[in-house]
Amino acid sequence: MAKENLTHDQQFTRLCENGFGFVAKAIEQLWENGSSEALKYSVINFYSGVELLLKARLMHEHWTLIVADPNKADVDEFLNGEAQTVGLKQAVQRLKKVAKVAVPTNAINSFEELRKHRNRMVHFYHPIDVNEPDQAKQREAVILEQCRGWFYLRRLLGDEWQDEFATFQVQVADINAAMKRHREYLGTVYEQIQPELVAAHQDGATLATCSACGFDAQVLDDIGPQEHKCRICLAKESFVLHPCPNDECGKKTLLAMGHCEAWECEHCGSSIDLDEVLCEYTIEGKADHDEPNMPALCTECGHIPETAGTLDDGETVFCFNCFSWPEKIEYCQWCNEPFTGDAEGTYWSGCEKCEGKAGWTWDE
Ligand SMILES: [Zn+2]
Ligand SMILES: [Zn+2]
Ligand SMILES: [Zn+2]
Ligand SMILES: [Zn+2]
Repeated sequence: MAKENLTHDQQFTRLCENGFGFVAKAIEQLWENGSSEALKYSVINFYSGVELLLKARLMHEHWTLIVADPNKADVDEFLNGEAQTVGLKQAVQRLKKVAKVAVPTNAINSFEELRKHRNRMVHFYHPIDVNEPDQAKQREAVILEQCRGWFYLRRLLGDEWQDEFATFQVQVADINAAMKRHREYLGTVYEQIQPELVAAHQDGATLATCSACGFDAQVLDDIGPQEHKCRICLAKESFVLHPCPNDECGKKTLLAMGHCEAWECEHCGSSIDLDEVLCEYTIEGKADHDEPNMPALCTECGHIPETAGTLDDGETVFCFNCFSWPEKIEYCQWCNEPFTGDAEGTYWSGCEKCEGKAGWTWDE
């Protein structure tokens, strides 16, 4: 038993070292010599590093989880590096299902974008002509996607998964330092577009801080839930802008994501009630609560009381706690409770709130 633990630790360490190594190499390559080859390998290596580090987090739970088919998990094959392991999507799914570790949607989208770009580079002959003006655009796209990817990855490795990656915080700090030129680049973009931001603000738009790049470059025009692309790093993010319920204040304020039970106005500190907000923007919130038309359980964040509702267009679903945009709301076929997702099969297996007929039968 002790032997297996030791090799497991060694494997974990090796996976992390490789992951950080690839990311560091990618950053170096991007600024190396401006050749199209260097740019291509930067894209490939950056993604490889991200994927290895996510796999490392999954492996921290148990090594069999990173093997594509856990039924065939063979420790020798695994240690020899011969086992077929999971890709990005599966790693994220298993982290959520098995380890109850949620990777935020924005982070997943950013990693997915890196994966797709990497695939284009690997699978298609994709020459970049150095003399073409397009080359500068390509480079800019890579800088921005690496910035976004690293912002999300750093938050996971350095904050949320700090315990699991405790021995690698030096590498996290080193990569952060190596990203300096990327960030300087963002700074020049900010200077270029600042007049545009100032004008938008004067026209009444609210400027929100982009959680990916940290610049106040998310331009919000309307009240209610909305998704925007950062004007600097192009990261997509969702916000809820809401008028303060205190008449003496009445200013527009941003509601904090993930804190729906503790919202308050950023100007006057008045507390803002979840029910009021649901009533303002959702069909369920406006309905008489004796009717079966209640806000739905969001299966992304699982917040109780329920936080997902249908916006006034009658179609779009939004969770006011985790700010996700679920595809649909359906009703459990057994207990009839609404939730975000697919109700097929719930008559038997139940939903997050009930055990379905199967559970009921076993109780007999
Ligand atoms: Zn940004
Ligand atoms: Zn206020
Ligand atoms: Zn949610
Ligand atoms: Zn149910």
